[in-house]
Amino acid sequence: MAEETIFSKIIRKEIPADVLYQDELVTAFRDINPRAPVHILVVPNKLIPTTNDVDTDDELALGRMITVAKKLAADEGIAEDGYRLIMNCNQHGGQEVYHIHMHLVGGRALGPMVV
Ligand code: C5P
Repeated sequence: MAEETIFSKIIRKEIPADVLYQDELVTAFRDINPRAPVHILVVPNKLIPTTNDVDTDDELALGRMITVAKKLAADEGIAEDGYRLIMNCNQHGGQEVYHIHMHLVGGRALGPMVV
């Protein structure tokens, strides 16, 4: 069984976070160390450690992550100018927290994607 991360505690509201959205499938909160004027994390409520662990049963939650990111981009006023959605996987992907999450970043020109 996968080990819980700090994100499970945020989802259960056991520790404070700037939560912007929550429903039965996903939670969205501001990144504690923002790399852009808007930097929000959208996470499934269910603990899925990495994108390698995603399964067909998770497709509803993964789709919801994108529709919630789209709504939050509009709420934050960055939809028209644009933004980036990022998911990191494992060491080479730069993943630090092993509970999958989508970064919604924007609010300035991000430039070409650096890999
Ligand atoms: O994709 P990656 O795993 O590297 O990103 C983890 C993100 O979680 C970081 O951007 C970090 O700032 C954020 N974080 C957070 N709140 C915490 C711990 C980490 O927003 N309590």
